[in-house]
Amino acid sequence: QDNADYLISRIRSVEGFPKAGINFRDFMPVLADPKALGLMLDALEAALPVPADSFDAIAGLEARGFLFGPALAARLGKGFIAVRKAGKLPPETIGESYDLEYGTASIEIEANMVQPGERVLIVDDLIATGGTAKAAADLIRRAGGEVAGFSFVMELIGLNGLAPLGDVPSSTLVTMP
Ligand code: 5GP
Repeated sequence: QDNADYLISRIRSVEGFPKAGINFRDFMPVLADPKALGLMLDALEAALPVPADSFDAIAGLEARGFLFGPALAARLGKGFIAVRKAGKLPPETIGESYDLEYGTASIEIEANMVQPGERVLIVDDLIATGGTAKAAADLIRRAGGEVAGFSFVMELIGLNGLAPLGDVPSSTLVTMP
C-alpha cells in the first residue's frame, strides 16, 4: 500500500489543460522519479491482464505509450511495436481512423510489423473513452495479429472506457475521476 500511495503521489493533475474543463492527468513525474518509475514497471508486470507467456509483443500508443512500453517489453523479453499518429511512418502502413470528442484522429503501424497470428498486448498511459485503445486493437487485428490484452497506467472513471474493448482482458493500475 505504501508503494501504491507513493506511485499515486507522483501523478500530477493539471486543471484546464489542454483546454478549459479538462483535468489532465500527467504521469511524467512518475517517469522522472527513479523509485516511482521502478514501482510503476513492477506494478504493470504484476498486474498483467494475461500471463506473459500468452502474448508475443507489446504495442504502445504514441506518445506516452512509447515512454514505458519498450521498458516493459524488455523486462518481459518481448519486442515493441510502435502505433504512431498518422503520417509519420514510411510506407507500407495500415491506418485506422476514430472519432474524438471533436473531429477524428488517425493512427498507423508499419504493415509488416505484426506477424500473422502474433499475440499483442496494447499499452497506453491512460484510457478515457476507450476510443484510442479500440482503434489500436482494430489496427492490430487488421494487420493479422491477435489482441491478447490491454495494460493502462490510469483509467478515468465514469466514461466506461473499457466497454469498447469488448471481452479482451485489461488491467489498470490507478483509477481517477
Ligand atoms: P480515449 O481515446 O480513451 O478517450 O483517450 C485516451 C487517449 O488520450 C490516450 O492516448 C491518452 O494518452 C490521451 N488522454 C486523454 N486524457 C488524458 C489525460 O487526462 N492525461 C493524459 N496523459 N492523457 C490523456
